Amino acid sequence: MKRTALAAGGIVTGTSDLFARQAFGMTPLNGSIFREDFSALQTQDIKARLLANENPWGPSPKAVAAIAESASKGNRYVYNSSIKLVELLAEKEGVKTNQVLLAAGSTDILEKTAFALCMKGGNVISGDPSYLSLVRTAQAIGAKWKNIPLRSDYTYDLDAMEKSIDADTKLIYLCNPNNPTGTLTQIDDIKKFVKKVNSRVPVFIDEAYMELLDKPGEQTAVGLIKEGYDVILCRTFSKIHGMAGLRIGYMVAPVERVKMIQGLVRTEMGISVTSLEGAMASLKDVAFQDSSRQNIKEGREYTFGELKKLGLNPIASCTNFILFPIQMPTKDFVSKMAEKGVGIRGFEIYNKPYGRVSIGTPDELKLFVKSLTAVVS
Ligand code: PLP
Repeated sequence: MKRTALAAGGIVTGTSDLFARQAFGMTPLNGSIFREDFSALQTQDIKARLLANENPWGPSPKAVAAIAESASKGNRYVYNSSIKLVELLAEKEGVKTNQVLLAAGSTDILEKTAFALCMKGGNVISGDPSYLSLVRTAQAIGAKWKNIPLRSDYTYDLDAMEKSIDADTKLIYLCNPNNPTGTLTQIDDIKKFVKKVNSRVPVFIDEAYMELLDKPGEQTAVGLIKEGYDVILCRTFSKIHGMAGLRIGYMVAPVERVKMIQGLVRTEMGISVTSLEGAMASLKDVAFQDSSRQNIKEGREYTFGELKKLGLNPIASCTNFILFPIQMPTKDFVSKMAEKGVGIRGFEIYNKPYGRVSIGTPDELKLFVKSLTAVVS
């Protein structure tokens, strides 16, 4: 299969001092992505915050009411009440309650899975560019990263991933739809892949953006778990539910994988009673989820069209963000946009600069387009 310039970096293995290098402002040693830091943005008056793939329409008013009402229950741990949300989620996903694990956002699941599987080193395989939370934690505790460039259509090169499995591979991480490209690898391809590799290695599938698809049920990998495959899936209330600041997410996995995490750490201790009650109310508020999905879709189509008009060649996305190549250093681009009150993200992908804009409200997106037009022309 033909590869793009994304492949130019080839496969590079990771090092465990990545965090230290970033903390001291040094360029990371490996991988395609270098994230600009946010510090420049903190000094600017940001009117359109389009940098963290948040949902500006959330939380659902019903969730807000449930949160307010539950604040008075804040004297109690969530031990007994959390089962209600677990039951709702198990019903929604069609799995057993002991296959669902709640956590303070999917970040918690990503990091704790890395701890559970990579404590003795080994390596993690992922696409590149991709979302690197799990990979970075794995690297920080001594594992290596095998980064596999995406194909020319920005989907995963599953054949190359399979070939890179070795005796030390602890996990394959797939983010589907992928961040930061916004692209989807078709579930049929993922199913075939899992069936081929799963006797050798578990597959983690991060579905943070899955519910933003028109028909999420057709593309989720949850069916593989029901069929008994060793697949660990994570979902979040941060995106479609617009509850990023409330910190709640969950994992669906075989019972043994849930026990693996629970034997090590207690993820439920990170959840507040307010987040729990808010999540339950939001889950039941299907009308809110539908309107979020529709608003995001309209904003995405508008933004994509405007980026095209500016000749910026955006990557078609099915999520709440769009990645596009730019013709100036990412740091300059992010600063110039921030000066105009627009917070966006810059990425260096195989030494080429890109901008990533999250889908905000119509007013925020208009400000983004106006500012971008001034910055690039
Ligand atoms: N996974 C992906 C792919 C993401 O893009 C993000 C956040 O942007 C997360 C996980 C983290 O989500 P949470 O807020 O649930 O920790």
